[in-house]
Amino acid sequence: MSSKDWIEKDFYAVLGVDKAASADDIKKAYRKVARESHPDHNPGDPKAEERFKAASEAYNVLSDSGRRREYDEMRSLFGSGAFRRNARGGGQSGGMPFDVSDMFGGGGAGDRRFGGAGFQDLFSSIFSGGQAGGQAAPRGPARGRDVETEVALDFGDAVRGVTLPLTLRAPGVCDTCHGNGAKPGTQPRTCPVCHGAGVTTRNQGSFSFSEPCRNCQGVGTVVEEKCPECHGSGGVTKTRTMNVRFPAGVADGQRIRLAGRGEPGERGGPAGDLFVHVKVRPDELFGRTGDDLTLTVPVTFAEAVLGTDLRVPTLDSAVTLRVPPGTPSGRVLRARGKGVVRRDGQAGDLLVTLDVVVPARLSDEARTALESFAEQTPPAAREHLDARVRRVS
Ligand SMILES: [Zn+2]
Ligand SMILES: [Zn+2]
Repeated sequence: MSSKDWIEKDFYAVLGVDKAASADDIKKAYRKVARESHPDHNPGDPKAEERFKAASEAYNVLSDSGRRREYDEMRSLFGSGAFRRNARGGGQSGGMPFDVSDMFGGGGAGDRRFGGAGFQDLFSSIFSGGQAGGQAAPRGPARGRDVETEVALDFGDAVRGVTLPLTLRAPGVCDTCHGNGAKPGTQPRTCPVCHGAGVTTRNQGSFSFSEPCRNCQGVGTVVEEKCPECHGSGGVTKTRTMNVRFPAGVADGQRIRLAGRGEPGERGGPAGDLFVHVKVRPDELFGRTGDDLTLTVPVTFAEAVLGTDLRVPTLDSAVTLRVPPGTPSGRVLRARGKGVVRRDGQAGDLLVTLDVVVPARLSDEARTALESFAEQTPPAAREHLDARVRRVS
């Protein structure tokens, strides 16, 4: 889910609760909507399915106090109209609705999550308590840059939560020579070829060409004794490692913000933030919808008709599910609490979809038995289709 979604979607309205609703109210409201719109109770109703999905998405955010706070902040920011004045330079009055695509799509400033650089800057300055309205706030030492990185998590780690060491590499100035490339105690010398100009002039016929000095690569100075750290380049790749905690239930596409873990500020300025984009590797068995895990289990026609007990895996154990007699293909059975368990103790479910498998081959005995079954079974109810066929043919 993108931040654009967050701005466009009113999760409170989806669940029919007030913005000040308690966690308990939100939970109750979600259960109600989910129960009413559940695909099991509304087979073949795409609107109900849409509602069911929207409710899961809303609950996913609002049930997590941290994400809910972030969502509220973003919504109040965009609802206030402060951004609109900034982004478009006009005096249009604020408030929803507004054209989000203006902010995200336009400008062609790259397809980063937040679109153009202007927004990125505004966004980070707001979160660091900075100059949201564009008023002239006093400028202290420069704040460090925000850093974005991406992490791929295993499916199970994302469900259970995990702490991982995160190594960030960024170019920086060599601390040993302070960037001039010379061995400590020595100084770079003016280039004897270009005399410090960094360019040389070459004559060819009646033309003369200026080109970067080959002796000093255009720098104008040469390093006699190279800095052992950066080998004379003045720059090094700096590596830092930190442990990052990914909470249980972190989802694919989610962005985690670690305040003050970005690049350090200049001369004691505040550090930037670190944004970690989470990718979750798919699992070979399980899928995931919000806090619910999903699993497809093949069953035979006989099992679906006669009923059976199924032993199915959960992420960490196994459960027995009762398939009642006469269960249609595609029916979803629910193993309560076997989904994602969040920090607050709430858990999603394991949703098991039954898939009736049609055998491609039959033994002679099975074929005979099936033919005898067919003779004793009423035909499928297709009168409504037959009527239409007669009308059009
Ligand atoms: Zn030179
Ligand atoms: Zn160096």
